[in-house]
Amino acid sequence: MHYLSTRDPAAHLSGFSDILLEGLAPDGGLYVPASYPKIDDSTLTRWRELLAGPGYAALAHDVLTAFVADIPSADLLGICERAYNDGVFATADIVPVSELSGGLWLAHLSDGPTAAFKDLAMQLLGQLFEYELGRRHAELNILGATSGDTGSAAEYAMLGRRGIRVFMLTPAGRMTPFQQAQMFSLDDPAIINVAVDGVFDDCQDLVKAVAGDLDFKRAYHLGAVNSINWARLVAQVVYYIASYLRVTSSNAEQVSFCVPTGNFGNICAGHVARMMGLPIKRLMLATNENNVLDEFFRTGVYRVRATAETLATSSPSMDISKASNFERFVFDLLGRDAARVAELFGPQLASGSFDLSRTPEFAALQDEYGFVSGSSTHADRVATIRALWESDHVMIDPHTADGVTLARRLPGPEPVIVTETALPVKFAETITEALGREPERPPRFIGIEDRPRKVVPLARDPQALKALIAATVG
Ligand SMILES: *Cc1c(COP(=O)(O)O)cnc(C)c1O
Repeated sequence: MHYLSTRDPAAHLSGFSDILLEGLAPDGGLYVPASYPKIDDSTLTRWRELLAGPGYAALAHDVLTAFVADIPSADLLGICERAYNDGVFATADIVPVSELSGGLWLAHLSDGPTAAFKDLAMQLLGQLFEYELGRRHAELNILGATSGDTGSAAEYAMLGRRGIRVFMLTPAGRMTPFQQAQMFSLDDPAIINVAVDGVFDDCQDLVKAVAGDLDFKRAYHLGAVNSINWARLVAQVVYYIASYLRVTSSNAEQVSFCVPTGNFGNICAGHVARMMGLPIKRLMLATNENNVLDEFFRTGVYRVRATAETLATSSPSMDISKASNFERFVFDLLGRDAARVAELFGPQLASGSFDLSRTPEFAALQDEYGFVSGSSTHADRVATIRALWESDHVMIDPHTADGVTLARRLPGPEPVIVTETALPVKFAETITEALGREPERPPRFIGIEDRPRKVVPLARDPQALKALIAATVG
């Protein structure tokens, strides 16, 4: 399997290992597989047996084999086994699925070290990075900015990986107490938490300024773990397949997935699984008040928001102004016309929006790709958390609540699997508002706020960040 950029009309091909350590393609596009591997009845039967027998890591290995041509099979199996086991995740199932009332199911994607679905992709990425850097005798200093879930998932995945350091910038005092405790309690010289005097955008600007200095970037081996990394996406395809297999007993059955969405990473993996032939009827895209994607799927107009227009909501990991993985879907929607994608996501989006409403592709979108969408508000979130607690005695976090809200609004005859993207313990304030009680706390997080904290304060100054990196790396 080879990869090409969504903006390259000449379709130059790269291998998996080459794009693994890269972010964007040089032309500004995103890497996608040259074609989607196709699955049939016998593939699904084999996967059913793998999941029921050897388990999730064996399934992941088999799925990844179709996407990764340049890592020997035995090595790839080792990578999957080190990423997906019950020492890393809370259960040996890795992604258990449970039934709710009313035809809904919950795929538990949040049983990893940081209690958010990003662990599933990031744990694999950590193992892949360590493997590939080892092969190249290279090292990597990951520089990133986070407002919460991504940074902690990255740190727990890279912790202890040979040749890898993490510099993670956070806006001082602006994450939830639980999120701060998760990151700052990591005591390892290769994990450098930085608290910037500013907001998340200031952190991101600092990263851009320093990574944009190409000489500095090269000299200090700087890299990223952003959500557009293809390896993260392919890791997520596996849990769509596992969830499907857990909810069905025959390969003739269809299911739908309802996905709390921000940067379109999670649901893009669902799209890939559906393109491969997994029997997915609908992909239900749930947004919060930041509804740029819901607007596109309803109207055909993709209008990115200004920072000032982006609201701070109670499902903060979905507070986006534009969706960084969305280009991958539009590439498929437009029949893989790279020149058209380059025009839309280059010059047209620079002017703020593009409009596909009068195209035949948009008219066929729902039938061909199964997408439906909807958005919800803080009041919906609180009401859904409360309703599910009362009907099923199941506690969900505010992001998952956006998904359950939409799934209940658009029921179907087929089972609807909502992806649980975080555990309630991360978002105590909204849970307390909805239920009048504190969220459940899994044993592995008890006392986390009491541990000693390690964090370096930093001014909003690229020179100060460079000095910190230089002094640490030596
Ligand atoms: C990252 C995140 C999301 C959004 O996922 P995307 O892949 O960006 O669409 C939703 N919920 C939680 C809890 C997250 O951490």
